[in-house]
Amino acid sequence: MLLEKAPAKINLTLDVLHKRDDGYHEVEMVMTTVDLYDQIQLSELNKDTIQIYSEKRYVPDDYRNLAYQAAELIKSKFNIQTGIKISIFKQIPVAAGLAGGSSDAAAVLRGLNTLWNLGLSYDQLAEIGTEIGSDVAFCVYGGTALAKGRGEQIEKLPSVPSCWVILAKPTIGVSTKSIYERLNLNRLNRINTEAMITAIKNGDYQGMYQNLGNVMESVTLDMHPEIKQIKEQMIQSGADNVLMSGSGPTVFGLTRKQTRAERIYNSLRGFCEEVYVVRMLG
Ligand code: ATP
Repeated sequence: MLLEKAPAKINLTLDVLHKRDDGYHEVEMVMTTVDLYDQIQLSELNKDTIQIYSEKRYVPDDYRNLAYQAAELIKSKFNIQTGIKISIFKQIPVAAGLAGGSSDAAAVLRGLNTLWNLGLSYDQLAEIGTEIGSDVAFCVYGGTALAKGRGEQIEKLPSVPSCWVILAKPTIGVSTKSIYERLNLNRLNRINTEAMITAIKNGDYQGMYQNLGNVMESVTLDMHPEIKQIKEQMIQSGADNVLMSGSGPTVFGLTRKQTRAERIYNSLRGFCEEVYVVRMLG
């Protein structure tokens, strides 16, 4: 039996450059992991099957689960005939823009690599992960990185300046596909990815929060005005800046002061069902 943590990620930047001939969008994203985790438990089975267990009924328990796909890929690539039970203790909100499913898949790749002594490097695991989804490669490494291509080309960055992160997820779910369909690529405000990278490299907290940016935000906000209310509430309660993560709907606010983090958290209770105060992981 083996336990592996699967942390959530947030986007400090998300830019969509253009649509490629293969149908994917060319993106540039600075992402970082935060200490809100799913716990993945891997237990070998006598019978050669893949079982998924989760206490949350909305988590798929078959091939639709990205964790299942990760185990299936490892088993077929390395001809492993041992069965595996994957128990997912979910804490990361689902369909939230926090890459919960991708992080679970990445944790299964790392965990099975250890459990079955495959000796694969993170680069090799990330390459396998890319067959499952664009965010899995980033989740294999965790920490802070620039993701390019369709999200699978990872350039590691130094740790972000430390701060509190208040995550708030409204009850709505957002489909990434529907946001991409509504993006007008000719009318996007450009995101200053370079300035974000410079701020991180200089350990410049102010530069980091001033350069938060996500081209998907205005599209999701138009569809779901409650996200705007949450953003305003966080700013009023003292967040230095606020941004939607990924295609949403989760919004995060940043502050260096614990008392402010507590004030923001308290101001959102009752207003938004799922609120968490976390730290960035690196
Ligand atoms: P991203 O930020 O990468 O767009 P997300 O946080 O918006 O991801 P997920 O939580 O990964 O979205 O879930 C999106 C959908 O994927 C869910 O509706 C669910 O049916 C499916 N899914 C597949 N595997 C998992 C998993 N391990 N945990 C949760 N959802 C999963």
